[in-house]
Amino acid sequence: MRKKIVAGNWKMNLDYQQGISLFSEIVNMAKDEVIGDQAVVVCSPFIHLHSIAQLAKGAPQVAVGAQNIYFEEAGAYTGEISALQVKSTGAGYVILGHSERRAYFHEDDYVLSKKADAALEHGLTPIFCVGETKEERESNRYFEVIRTQLEKGVFHLSDNAFDNVVLAYEPVWAIGTGLTASPEQAQEVHAFIRNELAEHFNQEVADRTTILYGGSCNPKNAAELFAQADIDGGLIGGASLKSRDFIEIVKVFN
Ligand code: 13P
Repeated sequence: MRKKIVAGNWKMNLDYQQGISLFSEIVNMAKDEVIGDQAVVVCSPFIHLHSIAQLAKGAPQVAVGAQNIYFEEAGAYTGEISALQVKSTGAGYVILGHSERRAYFHEDDYVLSKKADAALEHGLTPIFCVGETKEERESNRYFEVIRTQLEKGVFHLSDNAFDNVVLAYEPVWAIGTGLTASPEQAQEVHAFIRNELAEHFNQEVADRTTILYGGSCNPKNAAELFAQADIDGGLIGGASLKSRDFIEIVKVFN
């Protein structure tokens, strides 16, 4: 059985105290209400990581992640944060290749492949994002785009590394827009990704890799999306900033 995961991506939201309050609410609700064995991951800005990782010790099903790392371990890289540093906060995950990083910070496939290596080397599980833009979908190039992102970003890794890699399909046109991929559209791409894993690695890697859906996922549409055969959970933006909405999404797996 693949691991089911609901991960929140807080993006660049919440000051320090707001983040601590929200995370405390999530931990308390998770303790009382989450009865399945799904993992709950909160990917916060760096400033919250250490404190919320401490709070997460009270709730075994809740883990903490970053939203980015730099691939070098240490040195003169002003403003950057390494996998080693993130790991030392108690975090266990890191989002890589989010479309906002690809678009606004010009992260390319090569840089992302090095970030995936750095994460794995230091014991962080990458949540590696792929997804097409609106134009790429409308011109029917989405399979090609996603295949390239996978090939260049993570297909250099070993079979064994996939014990600790999570993939996320995030159609760019559905992020923060209120437009959700239909369950059929999402399932089509998830099945494609799993098939690519089977072809490049083997069926066993394909079967055990968790693939999350992200893009305007909310308490209303999560159950239908997560019911699809190849959708193993979600990467949640806006709805992860409200504890009740986030926990309702997590509880789809109860
Ligand atoms: P929204 O859920 O706000 O659309 O964001 C999705 C996302 O980018 C998660 O990483």
